[in-house]
Formats: sequence, C-alpha cells, structure tokens
Amino acid sequence: MIQGMDLYPHPAKIEIDLQQFKKNIGIIRKHIGKAKFCLPVKANAYGHGLIEMSKAAVEAGVDSLAVSCLLEGIWLRKAGIPTPILVFGAIHEDQVEDLIDWDLEVAIASKYKSELVADICRRLGKKCRVHLEVDTGMQRTGVRPATGVELFRHLKAHPFFEIVGIYSHLASAEHPNDLIAQKQIDQFIEFLKHPVFRDYPIVRHIANSGGTAHFPHSHLDMVRPGILAFGFADSHAPDSLREIAPCFTLKAKVSYFKVVPKGSGISYGHTFVTPKQTRVVTIPVGYGDGYRRSLSNKGSVLIRGKKYPIVGTICMDQFMVDIGDGEAYVGDEVVLIGKQGNESVDLRELARLSDSIVYEILCLFNERIPRIYKS
Ligand SMILES: *Cc1c(COP(=O)(O)O)cnc(C)c1O
Repeated sequence: MIQGMDLYPHPAKIEIDLQQFKKNIGIIRKHIGKAKFCLPVKANAYGHGLIEMSKAAVEAGVDSLAVSCLLEGIWLRKAGIPTPILVFGAIHEDQVEDLIDWDLEVAIASKYKSELVADICRRLGKKCRVHLEVDTGMQRTGVRPATGVELFRHLKAHPFFEIVGIYSHLASAEHPNDLIAQKQIDQFIEFLKHPVFRDYPIVRHIANSGGTAHFPHSHLDMVRPGILAFGFADSHAPDSLREIAPCFTLKAKVSYFKVVPKGSGISYGHTFVTPKQTRVVTIPVGYGDGYRRSLSNKGSVLIRGKKYPIVGTICMDQFMVDIGDGEAYVGDEVVLIGKQGNESVDLRELARLSDSIVYEILCLFNERIPRIYKS
C-alpha cells in the first residue's frame, strides 16, 4: 500500500490481529521443537500485507522468510528487513544479478541455471547462497533425485556457491494419512542418505503447513508453514495446534438502507427477486477489492450480531444484503470475514461457497482496502 494512505477515511478495512499472528508463530515454534522456522510471505503475505507481517514474524522469532520472486524479495530488503530470504521458484537469467545484489537465497534446480548463476557471481566477484531444489512428486520445479546428487557435487565444487539447504515441496499433505505426502517424505529422506551429504552443514526442508501439522518426521532441519501461521489449521491437526486462529477480519460500513417492495429484482441481471417486501442494505465492497463475485447470492455478512444473506450479483464496488425484518442503519459496522458478537463468517465457508480455497480468497484482496494492524 502507498505509505500513509490508511490515514484517510475509507468505509472498508482489513484488520490484522498481530498478537494472534505472533501467538500462532509461537505455537508452531513449540510444535516443531529444534527445527528452524521459515515463514512463506509470498503473495503479499497471503493477502495480509508483506512488510508488516514480515516484520511481526521476525519479531516473533522466525528464522527466515520465503517469497516467490525477486520483486517480493526486493520489497522486503527495501523495507530494511535483514533476515535471510529464500526465493522459491525458477529464476530467470535477467534476475540473477539483482538476486545476488539484494542478498537473496536462490533455489537451484538445474545445471544450466547453476552455470548461469556461477558466471554472474564470477563477473561480480560475489558469492551466492543457494538451496538445491529436488522434485519428489510435484512436477513443478526441482531436479529429480536421480540427478540431484550430481548437481549437488557440481554446486559444492563451485567456489561461488554457499550451499545453504536442500529442499522439496509436498503436493498433498492435508491429512495425516495422506499417502502422497508419505511417499514424498520417504523419498526425500532416502535421497538425503546419500554419502555426498554426510558431514555437510545443510538445512534439509520439505514440510509445508500440512507436513508441519501432520508429519513430525518431515520437519527435518526446517519447516515452511504458510497458511498455518496465518491461522488456518485443518480439522485433523494435533492438539498442540488447537489454539491456532486466523488474524484477518474484513469489515465495512452500511452505506445505504431502503425498503424494497415484493417482486423487485436486485442488482445486475436481477438474479435475485424479492419474494416479499423486505429491507435491503448496501455494502461498499465488491470484486474490485477482491471480494469474490462468485459469492453472489451465496455469501453472508454480520450486522448487529446477526447473519444476513447477500442478494443479487456482487458489483465491482458494492453489493446488497437482505436484512428481512432486521435492524440496520447507515454507518453500522458490517463484518464480511470474522466475528461479530456470537456470530462469525468463516473464511473456509466462503472458500467452499465460492468453489475456491482459503489461500486464493485471502490473496485476492488488493490495495484498495486499507489494512489496519493491531498489536
Ligand atoms: C507456498 C509454499 C509453502 C507454504 O505452503 P502452505 O501450504 O501455505 O504451508 C511452502 N513451500 C513452498 C515451496 C511454497 O511454495
């Protein structure tokens, strides 16, 4: 967000509870014992705000951060964050110099890319911190285990590389009985038994949130739980993670109130027609903010502690809510995601209703809604 814009009044806001976020980090920290904690903060820290969440995470004691691309790494460095930062994902030739200059850790997954990085290191006279990425079943990026040893030897022989870690990524780990995860973890551990890795100080890591929650033997030297740290543990998570909770609340203010007669079509396309006379309020948030249009006629919001349905299609900047005989006034607080009184609108439920996942819903919220951090 442009610095200082949160000082101007806007009828919608995302409130981030930094205390809960730090608590989540503490809970995970306890759960993982001696393993290191790398927090993925890609995609604007899952929509929570890259810089603020990264600073809070570092205060709460994470060992390192991970992003998905060079730009995210530079934003963190420009904000003065000195913590180690791993850049997941394939690197492109024209990014290598900046990756090195900004002191970012690079994932290496092919001999070709390693030569490229080595050439640029040589030219700059600088070392590069790298992680070898091994593919154990995602088929996204990563060298196959069969050629991983050879690539490791190659990296080891190069004076310009400081090999920090070796990692892999799980394709599925949401359930403690997940066979795909089990197989990938076994394969990774088997791969690491090769004598070439013996006595070499490398950080071995594979666990995402699912691995962290359900597969203790996948913790190895470091874990990389993203969604878990932002407060979403799945229902099978162990007791030690029970207190993990979301820190993201989306609020707005009622912007309009009216009584609508029976038989009135509401919003674009009249996809909802009132079955009887009712009260309808307008909420100043829309898909232009990242609130998903697929929640049209499906989602609900909280006003004065009561849950009411969204009616009609969600517009770019506004949508309508049917409050029936309920009470609401212009200016009333509306909770779109989170709790109000004894009621709550759960992000998981919204994800299900809009045929999406919590991750996607979170990171679609853009900069038009100010994020307010409560510490
Ligand atoms: C995003 C990502 C993670 C974190 O995934 P969660 O499911 O949010 O825990 C870990 N590792 C890699 C390589 C990732 O891209």
